[in-house]
Amino acid sequence: MMDTQSNSQLILALSKGRIFDETLPLLEAAGITVTENPETSRKLILPTNDPNVRVIIVRASDVPTYVQYGAADFGVAGKDVLQEHGGEGLYQPIDLEIAKCRMSVAVQAGFDYASAVRQGARLRVATKYFQIAREHFAAKGVHVDLIKLYGSMELAPLVGLADAIVDLVSTGNTLRANNLVECEHIMDISSRLVVNQAALKLKRERLQPILEAFENASKGTQAGLA
Ligand code: AMP
Repeated sequence: MMDTQSNSQLILALSKGRIFDETLPLLEAAGITVTENPETSRKLILPTNDPNVRVIIVRASDVPTYVQYGAADFGVAGKDVLQEHGGEGLYQPIDLEIAKCRMSVAVQAGFDYASAVRQGARLRVATKYFQIAREHFAAKGVHVDLIKLYGSMELAPLVGLADAIVDLVSTGNTLRANNLVECEHIMDISSRLVVNQAALKLKRERLQPILEAFENASKGTQAGLA
């Protein structure tokens, strides 16, 4: 934990896009309004209406790292990102049930995945999610060669780089547009609140009401009350 912040200052790590947009109502429920829009501002540290709370904008996969090292006190990250990170140094008190999607295996339409698996074929699988893919195929006893990609996984089967991909699916539109089909559901994904373990002790008084507001607001959303 870096010793650069006073105990009354809180830093929240968020990524742009769905997580930022869907965290805003939870912050509002805690009385916190972010006063600049990350889509139009170039600032990486955004002020809020509370001089003691600031939001940093980082890549989704970097959120756990900022929180782990205490550069942010808390953050919001997808289950996919947390599984890949490993969760070391992080307390994960609340599933916020936001930015929901699923992690799936997908192949080109016409590729008989079930039969390839039955025959014990060695499959080439392209993914950004190495840990999740490795565990999934190991548990099924499927032999795979994993190919690490950083984006546009959907392209890999179309140009012969891989037989299958492991990727996030939300509406399924991206798969359909690229003639791919989902052939295995690996896990449901949603975003969770993560808190630095030292901050949880040292800043409990400041953090606790915010965590409670987040929890109540996310329950309200789930029940369709928000
Ligand atoms: P869709 O076309 O709605 O199924 O969305 C699929 C594309 O959006 C894929 O490229 C995914 O990697 C990405 N995606 C979907 N849901 C999420 C999410 N919750 N977080 C990050 N990326 C996502």
